[in-house]
Amino acid sequence: MNDRFAFILPVMQVAFGVAAVLAGRWRVSSAGWWAGGFLCSASGFAMPALALLMPVEGRAIAATAVFAAAFFCFGQALCEHFGLRRNHMALRAAIAVGSTAASAWGVAADSLRLHLVASDVGCALLLAVPLLLARGRTRRSGDRALVAMSWVVVTDCTLRVIAIRWLASGGIANFPVTAYAFWYQVTGSLIGVAFAMAALASVMIGVLMRYRDWAICDPLTGLLNRRGFDEALAGRSSHERAGAAVIVCDIDHFKAVNDRFGHHRGDEVIAQMAAAVDAHLPARAFAARFGGEEFVIYLPQGALGSGGAANAAADLAESVRRDFALRAQRLLGRDFPVTASFGVSGVGLGETTLDPALRRADQALYQAKSAGRNCCVVKAAPAATGPAARAGYAGTATAPA
Ligand code: GH3
Ligand code: MG
Ligand code: MG
Repeated sequence: MNDRFAFILPVMQVAFGVAAVLAGRWRVSSAGWWAGGFLCSASGFAMPALALLMPVEGRAIAATAVFAAAFFCFGQALCEHFGLRRNHMALRAAIAVGSTAASAWGVAADSLRLHLVASDVGCALLLAVPLLLARGRTRRSGDRALVAMSWVVVTDCTLRVIAIRWLASGGIANFPVTAYAFWYQVTGSLIGVAFAMAALASVMIGVLMRYRDWAICDPLTGLLNRRGFDEALAGRSSHERAGAAVIVCDIDHFKAVNDRFGHHRGDEVIAQMAAAVDAHLPARAFAARFGGEEFVIYLPQGALGSGGAANAAADLAESVRRDFALRAQRLLGRDFPVTASFGVSGVGLGETTLDPALRRADQALYQAKSAGRNCCVVKAAPAATGPAARAGYAGTATAPA
């Protein structure tokens, strides 16, 4: 039975390592470290097969070294996965070297317990340190499964250390017949497989999330694109949408910016518009670049206090208008002022989608363009009485500052 385990474990670990190598082709930074970890641990589990080539002491030290390397790689993979910049790599390398040295000392002293305890403590610490550093960074369910499985591995190593007096005794040569050897193969199979599955799942979820981000985000500005806007909107309740407002905005005479400064500078102006929008976005509101130099902001009911959605939206549009003009001036200088126009509307009573409000905001934007640009026009929702129809804004251009 033991022999079969000994054969299966390295093969499984190699399979996981190869899977991680393949996943690395999607440019996931953690994949290479997972692959290194699984391949190192495969060679650790394969050490008994080298009985004819190496003395037992050499195999024991080599196994400790490759398991330490494996757990260092696993820890680094966790750091990459959770984007930990301060990942204490030097400390973790010192733990790997220190535990291997202490374990080798156990071999030199022919103490099986010291040899195994030093190795297990090292492995537990090499995984526990990144896990502690990653606290509070688990956003997705896949992350939570990975963290949970990693803690199970840490616990497994720790329990073996605690139970070592009952699991192993005597000299290094005793290892194959100890209860420790049996249990490390059992847990290596069961926990090791679950850990590897969680690791590979986290890599695949990372790939999917990246493609999803690419699908819904505008690469130039980092804001949502049209698809992302629709998806974000679908996630909001109809009750929230009922009292919402939208702002549509478009950079004025943008073609002239491209013609004068080139497309690259034009891109920077678009990015500045996005930055101005982002800087004024209240909680639970979201914004998208609908294409070219046109942006849309969704303001849910209550996002701007109780003053009425369209009025509050018009105030916000004014803030963005002024902010963008300043940013554009910083970028292109005073001689070439660049401005933007805004159209605003609220969702009317009985309107179940945002489309009518978007249409009205679009019409308001055209009115703003016709009124000389660099201004904001509010077009009130037809059924709305009161809040959405503030006299100062409804259908009229606000004076530019
Ligand atoms: P208006 O005030 O009426 O909006 O005039 P405009 O020049 O801004 O509008 P128009 O629609 O004529 O021109 C928009 C220009 O935006 C044309 C297009 O080349 C440019 N454009 C669209 N997308 C991009 C982009 O991603 N980057 C850059 N640099 N320019 C873009
Ligand atoms: Mg324009
Ligand atoms: Mg346009």
